[in-house]
Amino acid sequence: MTLNEYQKKRHFGVTPEPSGKASDHEDKDSNLIYVIQKHRATNLHYDFRLEWHGTLLSWAIPKGPSLDPSVKRLAMQVEDHPIDYANFEGVIPEGEYGGGTVMVWDKGTWEPEVEEVDAALQKGDLKFTLHGKKLKGSWVLVRTRGYGRSSDRSWLLIKHRDQFASTRDVNEDARSVISKRLLADIASEGGGDVAKAATGDPSSKSTTPKRSARPKRAAATAKRRKRAT
Ligand code: MN
Repeated sequence: MTLNEYQKKRHFGVTPEPSGKASDHEDKDSNLIYVIQKHRATNLHYDFRLEWHGTLLSWAIPKGPSLDPSVKRLAMQVEDHPIDYANFEGVIPEGEYGGGTVMVWDKGTWEPEVEEVDAALQKGDLKFTLHGKKLKGSWVLVRTRGYGRSSDRSWLLIKHRDQFASTRDVNEDARSVISKRLLADIASEGGGDVAKAATGDPSSKSTTPKRSARPKRAAATAKRRKRAT
C-alpha cells in the first residue's frame, strides 16, 4: 500500500486535507479504524474507508450504504488515504482534487471476519464486522465485473442478514457523527459553497431529527438555504 497516488493528486499548500504518511502503527487484532466521509464534490458520494497496513483502503459509494441485505451498492475503489484522513471534516477548495465539502458521516472500528485479509482482498471477497455509530454488524465487499478500464476497481457493498439489517434508509441520518453538522453547516463555517453543499443534505421538509434540540442551528441553516436559492 502506498500513498503516492494520494499525494500526487493534491496540493497541500492549498487543500486543508492531511498530507499524511503511511503509519507504522499496525494493529491486526483490534481497533482498526472504519470511517465513512460524505463528500459533496462534483457528485455526492460516500467515501468508505477501512484501516489496513497503515493506510485507509478507500471506496467511493455513489448512493451510500444500505442496511437492506437485498440491496447491493456500487463501491469504486480509489487511492489509499492516510490514517489521519479519518478525522478530516471541512472544505476542499474548488478547483482542487475533490473540491467540495467533506463530513465525517460515520466512524468506529472494523474487524475482519476472515483470517487472511490480504488474500480476501486479492480474491475480491472481504467479509467484516463494523462497529460504527450508524453502521453495525456484518457486511461484505465483493469485487464485481465493472465497465471498461475501471473493471478491477468495481466492488459491491452488501449488508449481511443480522439484527442490524433493516429497510430503513440510513442515509437520512444526515449529520456528522463528530460535529452533528449538516454539509451546509460545514461549508458555511469552512468558507465553502453553501448552496452546493446543501444539495447533499436532506430537503428542509424531511429535516425533522434534532431540530427541536438545536433550534438555533436549524434556523440558521434554513436561513442560509433561503439566501442560497
Ligand atoms: Mn471523495
